Formats: sequence, C-alpha cells, structure tokens
Amino acid sequence: MKYYSTSLQAPEATLEEAVVKGLAADKGLFMPRSIKPLPPSFYEEIVTLSFQEMAYRVADAFFGEDVPADTLRQIVYDTLSFDVPLVSVSPGIYSLELFHGPTLAFKDVGGRFMARLLGYFIRKEGKQQVNVLVATSGDTGSAVANGFLGVEGIHVYVLYPKGKVSEIQEKQFTTLGQNITALEVDGTFDDCQALVKSAFMDAELNAHMQLTSANSINVARFLPQAFYYFYAYAQLQRLQPGVKPVVCVPSGNFGNITAGLFGKRMGLPVGRFIAANNRNDIFYQYLQTGEYNPRPSVATIANAMDVGNPSNFARVLDLYGHSHAAIAAEVSGATYTDEQIAETMRATWQAHHYLLDPHGACGYRALAEGLRPDEVGIFLETAHPAKFKDTVEQIIGSEVQVPEKLQAFMRGTKQSLPMSKEFAQFKAYLMGE
Ligand SMILES: *Cc1c(COP(=O)(O)O)cnc(C)c1O
Repeated sequence: MKYYSTSLQAPEATLEEAVVKGLAADKGLFMPRSIKPLPPSFYEEIVTLSFQEMAYRVADAFFGEDVPADTLRQIVYDTLSFDVPLVSVSPGIYSLELFHGPTLAFKDVGGRFMARLLGYFIRKEGKQQVNVLVATSGDTGSAVANGFLGVEGIHVYVLYPKGKVSEIQEKQFTTLGQNITALEVDGTFDDCQALVKSAFMDAELNAHMQLTSANSINVARFLPQAFYYFYAYAQLQRLQPGVKPVVCVPSGNFGNITAGLFGKRMGLPVGRFIAANNRNDIFYQYLQTGEYNPRPSVATIANAMDVGNPSNFARVLDLYGHSHAAIAAEVSGATYTDEQIAETMRATWQAHHYLLDPHGACGYRALAEGLRPDEVGIFLETAHPAKFKDTVEQIIGSEVQVPEKLQAFMRGTKQSLPMSKEFAQFKAYLMGE
C-alpha cells in the first residue's frame, strides 16, 4: 500500500517510510491510497470472532500488503492482550472502556502496535538504532514509553515539563529504565514540543542519528484505533442484534475519531458519529460555520483534549474531499465547559453508579443530549478515572480506588535527567550519546 500526503506536495511513501518518517516531507499527514471494505462474510461472523482475531482482519486490510500474515497476526495479538468491554451505563447508552491496557489510557493500543511494527521493520532491514522523541503533557508519554519498553533497536526519549504532570503520570514513564529515557524539561509542554521540532529540523543531528516521532500523526499509531470500533459494534450486536449505533468520541487531536471514520469506510455499520469537545471547540465551531479557526488551547479538567489545532483535522478533510457538507452529514459536535463536565460526572455517579473520567464525561453527555429516542449510543471512555484521582474525588466527594496496575507504577523509583529548554543543551546531550 502506498501512502500519499494530505498536502499533495510530497512523493508517495511505502508503509515503512510513512512509519519511520511520521510526517510527510511537505508537512502533510500520510493517508493510505485506498481503504479496503471488509467482505460481507466478515460482518456476518463478526459476533463470533475474538477481539484479537477481529482486529487482525482489520489490520490485514490496512497493512496486509506490507507485512507477512504471521508477523502481522503476532503484532496484533501481542498488542491486544487486554479486554475492551462494552458496559451499559443508562438506557440506550453504553460505555466502551478503552482503559484496561497497561497505562489505563486508550493510547496504549496505538503505542504498542507502533512499537511492534517499527521493531519489525528494524529487524528486517538490519537498521541502525531508531530514536523516538516524544513530548508529552502526560498521557502520550506513558503509553508510548510502555509500548516501546524492551523493543530492540529503538530508544525512546520522553520530554516532559517539570512540575506540570501529575505524580501518577510522571511515574508511568520515569520508572521504566531499559530503552526509555525521561527528560525533565525546565519549561512548559510547548517548550518540550519546540525541542522535539527543532531536533527534527537539525541537519547535523539527523545525520548523526535516526530520529522519529510517535504522536498520533503516525499512521502506525492512529490506524490501529479502528479496532475499537469494530469490537464495540460486535459486542453491541450480541446485546441488541441489528442495531446501528451512534458513536461518540471525546476528541482532542482527532486521531481516535478519524480511525472510527476509516472503520465506517470499511463498511462498519455506524449510524453517525459525534465528536465531543471540551472548551477547546475548534472542530465544533467548524461544523457550525464551515470555517476552521485554530486558536491557542485553554486548560480544562479534560486536559488530554486541550488542543487548539487538532493535527488529524487534515485527515478528516481529506477523507471527505474537503466538503464541509459531507463531514457534517456524518459527524456532529458537542462542547462542554468544566462545570458541565463536573456536573455530568456527579449526576452519572449518583443516578447510575458509573464513574466517568472528565474526558468520557464529555462523550456521555453528548449522547445523553443528542440521541434521538430510536437511537442507541456508544461513547468511548478514553481513560480510567483514577488517572485523574484528585479532580474526580473533588467532584464526586468520595474516594476513587486506584487499580493495582497504577499502584505498581507508584512504587517504582523515578529516574529522569534534568534538561534546560535551550535546544543547544538538548542537542549536545543527544550528540554525546
Ligand atoms: C489523547 C486523549 C484523548 C483525545 O484523543 P485524540 O485522538 O487526540 O482525539 C481523549 N481522552 C484521553 C483520556 C486521551 O488521553
């Protein structure tokens, strides 16, 4: 399969090139040249397939031309070693819990899949070491670091802002050791991102070492998220045969929902999508007005969605031929303030004994407000509420149990290297390695 750039100014790339480079040379995002629908037989037997086998069939449609079947099957099976259950919350509304992976966030699947696929390409080519640079405000760093942990031929550098990530988040990527190095930057998240960008643009550094990024612009990180949507549909069919769900996705950079839109192109019966935003509602405004006006992000309690210029918007536009009408026909939007998010968490806990995290709360509320009486909705619960323990406890007024997986990280010892926000120091450090 060849991958073209959404900016259309760069030559097409192979899967391997797209994964290793991340971004096309013209700064566009890679898109597969075709999206293969899955055969009717797949949809007929979907309820009988395991999550892993179903996901393998989906992965085969994307990557089957470029990765041998047994390798791809192994990658998918290794990636999905945990369940993603569909849980009934209130009449007509289900939560797809994406938080049962190693770091309790949905980004685990993309992180693990990308690590294994890149590991395969490195082994196959006998390549020199590849270095993954990732700037994080919390969740991405932990999912990527844990996904790549122990993968041979790859070293990961996680750059995070000193004092600005929660203790739980920090422990998830500073306690790992092995091929993971945490760099504690004396600055903000934007400073971390600027360091990574400068590194990718520095010719001397790139001649010295192979650098790549692992954020959701990478096809190997965002496409595997399509697995979730197929599995959600299959689980719903077991409970309510014949129903075409409305799927609601709490969205920030729009990687997750874009993977769902790809699923629909492959024939997955989804009635429509809802993208739920916090106050960073650039996409919501685009749906209303047809105008895309990125703006600086504002901080909210659903902080993984604090994005002022969603990087996967270019993919959504491309998928619908740049037609606002076509996008609005399949995707609607919603936007909520912190007060509304908190109110939803409190009310859902009290009425249904379901504990939402702030991101999932945007998704639940959009369905509760937007479903028609004849519709059934599924929202993606993107993180475990214990990852936002203090916020959640303050809102619901009772204690949140921390799962054993998180407690284990808390017992680890933090190891990180202090780093200034000046590029010269970061570069000297990388050159000296
Ligand atoms: C990353 C993240 C999101 C947003 O996902 P996108 O793919 O960037 O739209 C939502 N919720 C949580 C908990 C996240 O970590």
